[in-house]
Amino acid sequence: MNRSQDFDVAIIGAGPAGTCAALRLLSLGYKVALIERRPFPRPQIGESISAGIWNILDYLDANSILNSCNMLSGLPTRTIWEKPESDVGERQGLIVDRADFDSKLLNLAKMRGASIFQPAQVVKQQTMQIRTVSGEVEVNAKLIFEATGRAGESAQKRFPTAPTTLALWTHISAMAQETSIEAIDNGWLWGTALPSGAYRVMAFLDSATVKQRNKDLENFLRAILDKSKLFKYAATAQFISPVRTCSATPYLNLEPWSGKKIMIGEAAFALDPLSSSGVEKAMRFTLQAVIAANTVLQDSSKTELAKEFYLSRLLESVATHAVWTCGYYNAAWPSSKYVSKFWSDRSKIIFQDIENCPALVASLKDACMAREKIESTRQQQAKQEGQEKSFSPEEFKSFLNLPIFLSPATSLTKTPCVVDDRVELHTVVTHPKLERPVGFLAGFELARLLQQVPHAATVGQLIGFWSAQMRIQTATEIVLWLQNNGLLQTAREFIEPDRGNT
Ligand SMILES: Cc1cc2nc3c(=O)[nH]c(=O)nc-3n(C[C@H](O)[C@H](O)[C@H](O)COP(=O)(O)OP(=O)(O)OC[C@H]3O[C@@H](n4cnc5c(N)ncnc54)[C@H](O)[C@@H]3O)c2cc1C
Repeated sequence: MNRSQDFDVAIIGAGPAGTCAALRLLSLGYKVALIERRPFPRPQIGESISAGIWNILDYLDANSILNSCNMLSGLPTRTIWEKPESDVGERQGLIVDRADFDSKLLNLAKMRGASIFQPAQVVKQQTMQIRTVSGEVEVNAKLIFEATGRAGESAQKRFPTAPTTLALWTHISAMAQETSIEAIDNGWLWGTALPSGAYRVMAFLDSATVKQRNKDLENFLRAILDKSKLFKYAATAQFISPVRTCSATPYLNLEPWSGKKIMIGEAAFALDPLSSSGVEKAMRFTLQAVIAANTVLQDSSKTELAKEFYLSRLLESVATHAVWTCGYYNAAWPSSKYVSKFWSDRSKIIFQDIENCPALVASLKDACMAREKIESTRQQQAKQEGQEKSFSPEEFKSFLNLPIFLSPATSLTKTPCVVDDRVELHTVVTHPKLERPVGFLAGFELARLLQQVPHAATVGQLIGFWSAQMRIQTATEIVLWLQNNGLLQTAREFIEPDRGNT
């Protein structure tokens, strides 16, 4: 083996984030090294994969891995959450065997040309000296992605974004071919049939509650299950694996990009497992990190811009999830009863003050506040949309004749955007109703389209201007989207007199 090998990017860790980065970087033509310390297949927690995984795998041209993957889909889901009685629905996502899923992604990366070092350990960070079974190698890379997950070394740099939570789990023989979730007095329970045939039972509790009972975890878990409704059967069933614990506290890495090292997946941030979307979000954020890396590799003078983009997407991911999680905890039936601190502590965003990184934490607080505002606007919008009537053909004709104006709250600003797989500073359009600034709609630069609004007397005229560069149907859809989001105003009340009162 060569003592020194050159790569564009070295990725440490071959979980979903690491392999997603490898596949995307390979598709952009880069030379990639993937360094994984454990031989595969290896067990991994996090089998419930949200439905959004399909379009990520599609994007990576990796859908084929699911054809032969050990998995269950369309399981019924029994839920006790907003009220103390159970509801049954069908789950959109998948239950995969993570050992199998992660191995298949890694094999695909290998087939597409990634150099795999496994099992291998980085023994000297500075020079990226790695130890493999056949000796030591120096991996020279222009950039390094750290995708070491929750177990990675950077644990001390993590800022908890919610109270500390521990997961406690075991397996029993098949209970039922379904997934169950139940809010209980001092935490919540989750269970699912696994592709192996076993049934995983998991409890999420405040860390302090578990630590008091550290010596007798099995009886502790049995007592919790016994008090539940959906998992009562498991309380007396034979546990076919020892009761294990692990941290489930969500966090943000306080040093997500330093020098040429960039954190991705759970090395960058972890979500509350409540959403069962950790794998999807780890991969989705990785795709954005690859855009930042591609920008740096193409033009190193754009490093600061790429970093700004990466940080904004990181904070947005963490804030969006933190706000969603608080809302979900708040909606659980034990929250309203205030039966325990578990629920009251998790129903609002609390930040402990820390000294070593006020800037990133302050930015996260801002991002959470912005997110909360967006959520409340969205709820109001949803209420209004419920009352909105659709156009009849006659109304639509009148709509085309309505005078049109740009809302005074619409403004332009420059922000890092993705253009052709790279980050560029671009003029984008902002409005208080928009979730985030918009650069392009249906592939057209929005700022340019809006320049024509003051020259159009009516909706129909604006559609006419735009139809010089796009289909009339697209122009109409853009007008309607802009109007629904408040960027364009029409005298719509002329055709819908009731609207003024809503
Ligand atoms: C209790 C619990 C339940 C969860 N349930 C779900 C769920 O149901 N659904 C879901 O989508 N998500 C769930 N998650 C989250 C999910 O597991 C993670 O989001 C996902 O695994 C993150 O992927 P990753 O690639 O970042 O890290 P990982 O999957 O952890 O992969 C990291 C890889 O890096 C390797 N590694 C670590 N250190 C080194 C090193 N120094 N050198 C080389 N290699 C290294 C590891 O061996 C591992 O293979 C859960 C998390 C917890 C804690």
